[in-house]
Amino acid sequence: MTQLNTEVEVRDRRLKSILSFSGKASELQEFSRQLKAPDKARTFTQCGDCAQMCAATICYHVRGAAVVVHAPMGCFATTPSTQEAINNSAKSRKVKPFNTQLICSNISEKETIYGGLKKLREAIDEAQNRFHPTAIFIQSSCAAGIVGDDIESVADEKQEELGIPIVPVYCEGFKSKIWSSGFDAGYHGILKRIVKKPEKKQEDLVNIFNFLGTDTFTPILKKIGLRPNYLVPLADVDTISRMTEAACSTHICETLGTYITDVLEKEYGVPKVHAPAPYGIKWTDAWYRELAKITGKSDIVENVIKSEHERIQPELEKLREELKGIKVYIYAGDSYAHNMGSIMADLGVEIVGITTLHHDMRTDGETIDHSTLQEMINVAGDIDKFTVCNKQPYEIIKVLKDTNPDVIIARHMNMTILAGKLGIPSLLEGEINISAGYDGILIMGRRIRDIVKAKGLLSTLKEYNQFPYTQKWLEDERLYI
Ligand code: SF4
Repeated sequence: MTQLNTEVEVRDRRLKSILSFSGKASELQEFSRQLKAPDKARTFTQCGDCAQMCAATICYHVRGAAVVVHAPMGCFATTPSTQEAINNSAKSRKVKPFNTQLICSNISEKETIYGGLKKLREAIDEAQNRFHPTAIFIQSSCAAGIVGDDIESVADEKQEELGIPIVPVYCEGFKSKIWSSGFDAGYHGILKRIVKKPEKKQEDLVNIFNFLGTDTFTPILKKIGLRPNYLVPLADVDTISRMTEAACSTHICETLGTYITDVLEKEYGVPKVHAPAPYGIKWTDAWYRELAKITGKSDIVENVIKSEHERIQPELEKLREELKGIKVYIYAGDSYAHNMGSIMADLGVEIVGITTLHHDMRTDGETIDHSTLQEMINVAGDIDKFTVCNKQPYEIIKVLKDTNPDVIIARHMNMTILAGKLGIPSLLEGEINISAGYDGILIMGRRIRDIVKAKGLLSTLKEYNQFPYTQKWLEDERLYI
């Protein structure tokens, strides 16, 4: 087990992350270079989310583990059940599905005064008796954090008693404005209490930090004689504990994966692939080359890249022709929006605007010249209408009316509903793995080509929709207040 601090510093401080910006992509990159927050910041927030949700995407999906959410029932209810996603993903990866094993300690008013450790111990015992898990995660909450419950001591005590890892995850919502801090909190707990030093190295194994999703990395890696170790969702505790045996680590999105890949590199000597995730042709080329350099496959990689380019070229050209004149707007988590920008550049569609849900001014273990924002500008050019906004519909409605796209690529469901009400077809990029690699570009092109056909239907829906915003606000030049 590693000697990391009890908690990982939240992104607000570690990565100087911000939640509001409106301007050009190049201007945001300049702010990031200078580590300077933009002058204007949002003072009114219409809605928000919690780091617990991001922590849950890590902890809820560990095969055989249980999660005790040490929180009032309301916090527990905000994290959606992901059972269907587990079943679909397991089917696609040809592994057995499993049930999530969740318990809420149900902190009430009394515990917020006298402390909730008794209830936490009871919940851990209940999880042990009910599920016989191979590890138990404890997700903290605002109430547990404010009353000062010593979760770490209970975890130590129960770990000794039960003989399985008991993993505290400090994802209290009040601690960070950036809900992606919950990813780091989940990984930090795993690194501290589950990950072990390698007993032997597996020279062809590549850690892929991803969400639930299709197995697209087996064929991608097989081309240069490697195989994926999908982490963390669907992996069991034993597999997770041995991630240090891999030849190197990579991810499907910097926002998700750079904290853990950086710690694995620095603490355990597992090299990280220092290239953006494989989305779009140039990024995939660079990723393959980096991967090949680390794993000693440089002699074969150029041939693979050349033949892959030749393979996709005919369909890519056809798609570019079909997509000519289409205007796309991208709305996604920080780095993943940049991944999409990279693919759009290859498809030749016009990017009329991008919104990221937050922006990390710094990236764990990467220089500012190689941030995905800079890498996207390098392949797609500057983006004139670039905003950072944590899902505020009162702002996004103005961005969409202003940019007037033909299609929206949205990573999150709420945006697809707003887009539909405005009569704009949207492509829900919920399943990330299918857009990876050279085939991912073609798949994305086909999806955009097909979804624009929904415009007629949606324009009828638009006619019957009413928004709660006043004309005065919609015409106000300010994007946020
Ligand atoms: S942990 Fe805090 S921010 Fe998160 S759902 Fe509970 S009260 Fe809300």
